[in-house]
Amino acid sequence: MIQLFLPLNFLGFVYREIRRALTDLENMLGLLTRKPLITDKENAQQLTIQNANIEFKNVNFGYHSSRAILKQLSFTIKAGSKVAVVGASGAGKSTLARLLYRFYDINSGAICIDGQDIRNITLHSLRQAIAIVPQDTVLFNTSIRENIAYGRPDATAAEIDHAIEMAHLTPFISSLDKGDQTLVGERGLKVSGGEKQRIAIARAILKKSPILIFDEATSALDSHSEQAILNAMREVANNHTSLVIAHRLSTITDADTILVMQAGELVEQGSHTQLLALDGEYARMWQLQQTQAKN
Ligand code: ADP
Ligand code: MG
Repeated sequence: MIQLFLPLNFLGFVYREIRRALTDLENMLGLLTRKPLITDKENAQQLTIQNANIEFKNVNFGYHSSRAILKQLSFTIKAGSKVAVVGASGAGKSTLARLLYRFYDINSGAICIDGQDIRNITLHSLRQAIAIVPQDTVLFNTSIRENIAYGRPDATAAEIDHAIEMAHLTPFISSLDKGDQTLVGERGLKVSGGEKQRIAIARAILKKSPILIFDEATSALDSHSEQAILNAMREVANNHTSLVIAHRLSTITDADTILVMQAGELVEQGSHTQLLALDGEYARMWQLQQTQAKN
């Protein structure tokens, strides 16, 4: 009896050890297959901007391998043109912007700027070429002025003042005792969503990048401020290649091309007039927002 018991007990021990080792191995493989952080390729080249033509070619992407977010996405943003992206929340609009800035690498396909695959160029030169006004702007614990200037340490005082003016921040700054020296961020003055967006727009103006991305940049503003900011954005976007992610369709009717996204797919594209004539998804969204605006 004892003779039989010991080996069985021992086998149980061996079995448990093997199980544990396999689990460790799986965990290790999990780590190995997890996407690496985005870094420069060996021999990465500087991005050479000719006229900032952007091309998405059959792009597939998911944040996790279990769920595809963008499916076979292809479109071109011609140099100097303004392309708007519209679609329901969760359609993948912000993801487009994140991929162009290379916060993540795509699963297949290619994203090219002036014919250069963004995976082959240095992150620094790529990100220098793009200014983003994100949905949620993060303010540092420093003055408003430094918050605007941080992307361009070499900016002159006159350039910073100009960016403040262009972003329609002057009335807000004048209302503060310490003006643009007022501390903001978590430990400073609480600023509204709209003011934050203006600060982000001023940053983008100052960065002077050939490519501009506005991600629902006016969503936190009332319609009066929105018009003012939109005018400023139009001025800034002149001679730039720009991608405008929009919630309110009335803000992008002047775009050269409007991309309509649904669940990670491009379902329609064309000018405002063309899309209305098509009488599809865009026309339906337009009708809906027109009705809401009247009520
Ligand atoms: P949109 O800007 O059109 O509202 P997003 O591009 O932000 O949509 O998101 C597209 C989809 O990807 C959504 O289903 C969202 O839940 C998902 N998603 C966004 N960010 C992440 C993330 N960091 N990790 C996992 N899923 C994400
Ligand atoms: Mg978004």
